[in-house]
Amino acid sequence: MAKRKTKRNSKRNTPRNSIIVVLLTLFIGFYLVEGGWQDWVDPNNSSFSATTTQTGAEAGRLRVIFLDVGQGASQLLISPSGKTMLIDAGNNDREQQMVDDLHAYGVKHLDIVIGTHPDADHIGGLDRVIDHFEVGDIYMPKIQANTKTYESLLRSIKNKGLKVKTAKAGVQLDWDEAVDAEMVAPVAASDDSNNMSAVVRVTYGSSSYLLTGDAERESEQAMLSAGRELQADVMLVGHHGSKSSTSPAFLKRVRPKYAVIQVGEDNSYGHPKQTILDRLAKQHVEVYRNDLQGNIEIASDGSKYYITTER
Ligand SMILES: [Zn+2]
Repeated sequence: MAKRKTKRNSKRNTPRNSIIVVLLTLFIGFYLVEGGWQDWVDPNNSSFSATTTQTGAEAGRLRVIFLDVGQGASQLLISPSGKTMLIDAGNNDREQQMVDDLHAYGVKHLDIVIGTHPDADHIGGLDRVIDHFEVGDIYMPKIQANTKTYESLLRSIKNKGLKVKTAKAGVQLDWDEAVDAEMVAPVAASDDSNNMSAVVRVTYGSSSYLLTGDAERESEQAMLSAGRELQADVMLVGHHGSKSSTSPAFLKRVRPKYAVIQVGEDNSYGHPKQTILDRLAKQHVEVYRNDLQGNIEIASDGSKYYITTER
């Protein structure tokens, strides 16, 4: 039943009754003034720019924004009460864009920052973000990298006087009392950076999200064995749609309705792999992609989803 803009589909402005037309016009005017314009975009038009005038919390909604960072990953979460969480921040070469995007979404402070794992396409922009914004808690898994990118991040963390908390399965994030946010991976230590990815499951009312970082089959298997709840209506497709992730057993357990692939145009990895797209299609999962649609927002009021894409 959760379909984009379903909420407004019943409110078409057909001029059958002039009083209704006038009332609707006034109501729309009020919403425009109050910044609620997002709800009043033509319900038949699935895409519009969500990056320009969004500010703070939208009453009663959890917003999960899959930021278009090219070949990399980043998710911005804004809770119903306006709390913010940033999971990853894309590559170094887009870090100013990252900061600009956060400003455009009205972010002034990040309550929680998570660097899912030390790969540059996830933590590259985090140093600049941390330099730029006040940060509450920062979480990263216990795996290091000998890269300039990683060192630069550690420097920014130190300069801000932050202490890194360990990202691992079972960690409950103290974020917004209306929203449950729990890490479901990494379950076990691994030498492989991708398989150390912090995986976060977020639930709000009856809606659920699974944000998978670059977790591959090894980690997926460990999550399945650990027995935690993994079902999620909205799933970030693991490792940019690489065939190393989204194993059939994992997909079957998560049972997503919507999947987002964070991938850059013409990337040299050939992501997303056709095998994975076929696998998602076979499960009737509705797929969204940053390379095709720009920023993708999947918000929830606790029961319905509201999906908007930049293009
Ligand atoms: Zn990656």
